[in-house]
Amino acid sequence: MTLWCLVCLDYIIDSGLNLSDNMRTRVAVVGAGTAGLIAAKNLAALGIDTNVYERKKRLGYPPRASGIVSIEGLGSLGADYRKAVTNTLYGANIHAGGEVMRILSKKPVAKVLDREILNDLCYDESVEEGAHVFTGRDINSEMLDELHRRNIIVGADGAVSAVARHFAMGEIGDHVLTYKAEFAARPRDHRVVDMFFDNNVAPGFFGWICPKAKDLTEVGIGIGQGHGNRLLKIKEISEAIGKARMLSSYASVIPLRPRERIVDEKEEVLLVGDAAGQVKPTTGGGIVFGGNGAILAARAVRDHLREGAGLGEYEKAFDSGFGRDLMLHRTLRRIYSGMGKSNLSLLMKAAKALGAESFLSKYGDMDRPSAMVRRFFLRNLV
Ligand SMILES: Cc1cc2nc3c(=O)[nH]c(=O)nc-3n(C[C@H](O)[C@H](O)[C@H](O)COP(=O)(O)OP(=O)(O)OC[C@H]3O[C@@H](n4cnc5c(N)ncnc54)[C@H](O)[C@@H]3O)c2cc1C
Repeated sequence: MTLWCLVCLDYIIDSGLNLSDNMRTRVAVVGAGTAGLIAAKNLAALGIDTNVYERKKRLGYPPRASGIVSIEGLGSLGADYRKAVTNTLYGANIHAGGEVMRILSKKPVAKVLDREILNDLCYDESVEEGAHVFTGRDINSEMLDELHRRNIIVGADGAVSAVARHFAMGEIGDHVLTYKAEFAARPRDHRVVDMFFDNNVAPGFFGWICPKAKDLTEVGIGIGQGHGNRLLKIKEISEAIGKARMLSSYASVIPLRPRERIVDEKEEVLLVGDAAGQVKPTTGGGIVFGGNGAILAARAVRDHLREGAGLGEYEKAFDSGFGRDLMLHRTLRRIYSGMGKSNLSLLMKAAKALGAESFLSKYGDMDRPSAMVRRFFLRNLV
């Protein structure tokens, strides 16, 4: 949309409201991925006038990401996503250091979701609650300035966030580059996802084989930040580049740390989802954490508009609800990323000897390691 159209849209909405010049009483959500649409649904449900602006014309397409989500985590998003489910998982095979740890629960633990259908369901829910979603709108800096005159801004525009850049909200300190592909192959075991951790393949590497549906197998990899530089070790490439400075590099990314700032109280700007770095650093899962970030952001906006509460309450609420678990995921990642094959093998063997397989099959929690630690100590106390 041109800047002019955006101004017109704003004017039409403003003209019925008689607002003073410097009041922001509405919300503009930039990005209609899952986090943006969950934010919009919750904002609209709380009675807040909400517009969503999405660059793509077709939501959730192409589906570049996977959709493994814990059943508990899915429940925490407060919506019915059953129509998007393509498979149910009962566990995982963890491959590391040449060892395999098999975790298999009696109860279902996770769902595999079709990401395009998931986006459509999130869209339907947000529109049902009264949010307006405008597709084919690539929001640039000029448009952001215009929207920001009247709107609180929620940046839900992914890891490479234009909102975060425009409002100087700092960097995401760590990320993985990703690749995934689907094959028309019947999964070997439709109940479990295979996870691979191997620093010999690449630093910080993880990979997965996901039984997506009856005749559909998905394969994906995430490679840590150091990997790009390996290319430069190839003689011909290093000779061609010489001592030239790298100006830029691009790839699809999963953020692995929270962004330096996820809220700017003074400017009334909040970030949610990948834009905020609300992602599990062990496996890159971000639907549950980003969705919960979006719900908390919507509540903080409501309290801000109704009671004048600081928007900084959003960051505090997210930290107290999820900060410890994300920190534990980060610690786990730091431990295994720094290990060579033989140390990983020793660690896996020791964990298996200590009964990790049966403990995790019974008490495993893919989102909340803190809950597992609690259960571990409780079990030993009892
Ligand atoms: C390969 C891969 C596998 C993954 N697997 C899983 C998994 O199994 N389980 C899980 O929970 N998570 C997984 N994730 C992570 C998950 O996909 C993300 O955490 C989640 O999609 C984040 O949602 P989001 O709405 O914050 O961002 P996105 O889904 O990135 O949505 C951002 C939206 O903003 C739009 N946008 C961007 N810039 C602009 C702009 N300037 N103007 C307007 N619109 C804009 C984009 O078009 C996009 O639609 C995976 C990610 C990848 C890459």
